[in-house]
Amino acid sequence: MHFHQLAELYAELEKTSSGNKMREILSEFFKTVPAEDIAVISYLTLGQLASDNDDVVMGMADKSVLKAIAIAGAVDQSKVSKLMQELGDAGLVAEKVLQKKPQTLIPLEKLTVKELFETLHKMAGSIGTGSQDSKQNLLATMLQKSSPQGAKYITRIALGTLRMGVGDMTVLDALSIAFTGNKESKEILEKAYNICPDVGIIAETLAKHGIKAIEKIDIHVGTPIKMMLAQRVDELHEISDKIPGEFTVEAKYDGERVQAHKNKKGKITLFSRRLENITAQFPDLVEWLGKYFHADEFVLEGEVIAVDKNGHPLPFQTLMQRKRKTEIEEYTKKVPVQLKVFDLLYLNGKSFLHQPYCQRSAQLEKLLKKNEFIVPTEKINTENIDELEDFFHKMLKAGYEGVIVKSRAEDSEYQAGSRGWNWIKWKKEYVTEMVDTFDLVVIGAYHGKGKRSGTYGALLCAAYNEKEDTFETLCKLGTGLTDELLEELPKKLAKHKVERRPARVNVKKEMEPEVWFEPRIVVEVMGAELTNSPIHTCASGLALRFPRFIRFREDKKAEQATTSTEIERMSKK
Ligand code: AMP
Repeated sequence: MHFHQLAELYAELEKTSSGNKMREILSEFFKTVPAEDIAVISYLTLGQLASDNDDVVMGMADKSVLKAIAIAGAVDQSKVSKLMQELGDAGLVAEKVLQKKPQTLIPLEKLTVKELFETLHKMAGSIGTGSQDSKQNLLATMLQKSSPQGAKYITRIALGTLRMGVGDMTVLDALSIAFTGNKESKEILEKAYNICPDVGIIAETLAKHGIKAIEKIDIHVGTPIKMMLAQRVDELHEISDKIPGEFTVEAKYDGERVQAHKNKKGKITLFSRRLENITAQFPDLVEWLGKYFHADEFVLEGEVIAVDKNGHPLPFQTLMQRKRKTEIEEYTKKVPVQLKVFDLLYLNGKSFLHQPYCQRSAQLEKLLKKNEFIVPTEKINTENIDELEDFFHKMLKAGYEGVIVKSRAEDSEYQAGSRGWNWIKWKKEYVTEMVDTFDLVVIGAYHGKGKRSGTYGALLCAAYNEKEDTFETLCKLGTGLTDELLEELPKKLAKHKVERRPARVNVKKEMEPEVWFEPRIVVEVMGAELTNSPIHTCASGLALRFPRFIRFREDKKAEQATTSTEIERMSKK
């Protein structure tokens, strides 16, 4: 497919702010895409160079991109810089500069999507001395080969600022309509996506082999599986209703969820709960997994926590020091960790997703050689709520967050990507205070006044409506933001700033923020009470009173925020 056709699609998508219209436009377009291009087009439309969990980073500085535009348009660099100051968007600068093209250029229609994608990967792969120059020249060639409109989008792709307002779910919906003629197949696609959350693989499988092949999609070792989550109850005794019979009660650790994959070649990759590749942060974990877990190929899960010299747990904030790109070796020594393992999803060519939890965890422990770095979770098996409560208090004393109760029944399979009743969490906040915490998505901000001038005074926060794939506002958040945090905020949020309301965001006129953000950043917020409110859109009008910022949840994606359904359920408590 020629890139100018894709650029036309983007121009059309840019004109609409309706999610439904976007799906319609996309699905019509997908019908025209050859199967061999569909994966690439899916990634590009999401503003990515590869699947989210592949570590492909363009690493191109703004300055280099502007230089490439100057080369492509054969104009002086000072002219490009001046235009940048005027227009504020390198994409628009490229479009303008390339409107007057030098005569000798290759005809427009020559640039294919495949060539563009391969070149972008070549650019991303170029590292070390001279790499900025070589990236610049490659980009300039791409810009020359495209139309001015195409140049606008290529520039944004190179800078990672192509924001069409399209999310993975929008693409899945559009694929479902394009290839099966109805929206109903979306459920099948979603199920497959939970096991293999790579829109490119799903799109290509569907385009080449149809919906039957999608039904059979299984674990791809090396592609993270969307993680299973735990439900919550209001009263401890409700657990027996939800999980009748015997259950396992495990300590709930306040660390980071890790899904470890080892492929046939022996390569170990670690993924976070956001399904990001975090292998480089934990060279120690990689080494221990190779040494102490005896299997040629596996997918297992655990929680990594920071520990002191005696192996006692340290707070989540200590572990967060390991989230870095530099000085890794130094921090590996400075912040020792331990992996508490609890689940096995795949072993030597066989998927364990449909096995009951007791079998998965038993097999896991069988293959684990005794050592002090990778250890099974502390746990008991019982069906007695008093014993559960005793264990819960013991775990609090040991410095943990609470417990997770897990069904051991025949049907206690691993529910990829869902918050089912097979796992139930019980945390210390549930017993000590009558407050709830929510993980909300920042979708807008209001400028600060007085002491807060120059930064934001408040953030507009939203819950995720998983049925509609939209974000619905719940509160304006201004409390709990420290001075340091306020100073850091504009910079932290700048990357996600957009000119107008993103298509998936649902806001009442009265709440419209002064600055809009793509739904990306998740914050944990404590609130006192949920009340009815006509100015918020969450669950058709719920607001959180007295919200207070607790922390950024960098481990969560926007679609992993607290859902409108959960909030509606809490409001009925
Ligand atoms: P929450 O973030 O409150 O929904 O709790 C779920 C998270 O608890 C999981 O994503 C894990 O990171 C974490 N966790 C800690 N201990 C365990 C455990 N024993 N089993 C499963 N998840 C755990």
